[in-house]
Amino acid sequence: MQQADDIKPCYPLFRQDEYKESIGNKQDSFEERHDAAKVQDTFTWTTTMEYRELNFKREALTVNPAKACQPLGAVLCALGFEKTMPYVHGSQGCVAYFRTYFNRHFREPISCVSDSMTEDAAVFGGQKNMIDGLENCIAIYKPEMIAVSTTCMAEVIGDDLNAFIRNTRKAGNISEDFPVPFAHTPSFVGSHVTGWDNMFEGIMGNLTRNSMDDKVVGKNGKINIVPGFETYLGNYRVIHRMLNEMGVEHTMLCDPTEVLDTPADGQFRMYSGGTTQAEVKDAPNAINTFLLQPMQLEKTKKYVTDIWKHETPKLNIPMGLEWTDEWLMKVSEVTGKPIPESLAKERGRFVDMMTDSHTWLHGKKISLYGDPDFVYGMTKFLTELGIEPLHVLCNNGSKKWTKAMEKMLAETPYGKNTQLFAGADLWHFRSLVLTEKPDFMIGNSYAKFIQRDTLHKGKEFEVPLIRIGFPIFDRHHLHRSTTLGYEGAMQMLTTITNAVLERLDEETRGMGTTDYNHDLVR
Ligand code: SF4
Repeated sequence: MQQADDIKPCYPLFRQDEYKESIGNKQDSFEERHDAAKVQDTFTWTTTMEYRELNFKREALTVNPAKACQPLGAVLCALGFEKTMPYVHGSQGCVAYFRTYFNRHFREPISCVSDSMTEDAAVFGGQKNMIDGLENCIAIYKPEMIAVSTTCMAEVIGDDLNAFIRNTRKAGNISEDFPVPFAHTPSFVGSHVTGWDNMFEGIMGNLTRNSMDDKVVGKNGKINIVPGFETYLGNYRVIHRMLNEMGVEHTMLCDPTEVLDTPADGQFRMYSGGTTQAEVKDAPNAINTFLLQPMQLEKTKKYVTDIWKHETPKLNIPMGLEWTDEWLMKVSEVTGKPIPESLAKERGRFVDMMTDSHTWLHGKKISLYGDPDFVYGMTKFLTELGIEPLHVLCNNGSKKWTKAMEKMLAETPYGKNTQLFAGADLWHFRSLVLTEKPDFMIGNSYAKFIQRDTLHKGKEFEVPLIRIGFPIFDRHHLHRSTTLGYEGAMQMLTTITNAVLERLDEETRGMGTTDYNHDLVR
């Protein structure tokens, strides 16, 4: 029982006999559980190589896929444009999931509407929902642009967004000139990164495709930056900072940093910041367009090269030392602006940090998973630190991703034993780390259950999780961190090195037994 003068939070509460008994009764009466010995036997079997081989023969089932669906990416993309309301044509439950997913990661309210298709719309099509939905969205939320994507339901029945939006205009529910970019985002193909790419192309197409006549490459003297599906707010900020230090005028095409990081000052901001429509309309006049995560921006690249006639420099994600160097040198080459002393100094500080920490990192084995560009950049970064990536898993990785990874790993001695897994899921990843133990895992919050399972196998099998990725639900404020540029490299190096030292402390703090290595200075 709770006492008013001694309120207990959850876990001391659930450790009380009364709650243990209550939970036990519930389990015995309603859960039809297997007995503990059977559960343990099955668990043990799932940690074996025999099970791993069977697990990798799975064909018709995905377990915990390490990716999200296309419209989720489309929503994030829409949030990066000024006064733009993400609008999802389809089922309400999907949209509730997108909102809570971002809400739990960013700890911000997420504005996004749905036209809530139900059974009748699934049979007869969702045009009526859209005709009413677009009108209601403008009347209630007063956006200046609505970016429409779709859920599986609308895609399965083949709803035609272009026709529906045209008919909504014809019906007079929205004006002829109100911008409603759209993207078909079927979730049975691709992932959230594809959805971002599709929506971005939709927005660029809507605002620039039919007004290219007066556009001249290089006229505005700026460069464009396209971030792709990016959830580290520090990454938008560090790119701005580096370019500002170089004196490079630029446009961040999609910037949700304000709306995803609003202050608590008593004012609710449904819209805040974001790339303006005027900036998008001017974007074809830029000198060039830089794609920060090129592997996931195939449609964007095609649009920018075909329609805007920009070359899109061939670069990798600017993560770690070498690829940040290359990125900055290319910006310098394209704009004619030299790399300033401030960035050279920042680079030198990062190199100093690498030398300070390398004795602790050299030869450590890390298994990691995440989106294609992220794991590509992270793997490269780990090898720069002398860490050996053991398993690299990318559910939404393509053949192109595998090829690029193989090429990069072949160039470093630390990549000799790395195994790549495109299209695999977190249940595969669990088998990998339970049968071939790395020192650490890098991934999103979902791997906390894998860490728990490795610990259940035995303390010596435990694989600690370093949380870098998306989503991070069970730690606070990490989405404000930076992973790109020298600043991002410094932050990640700090996180990884301190995880190593924390583990060392944990393993050597037995008083008088293992504390031979429990040092104050490391
Ligand atoms: S996969 Fe399809 S049904 Fe599931 S949340 Fe995404 S859009 Fe909705």
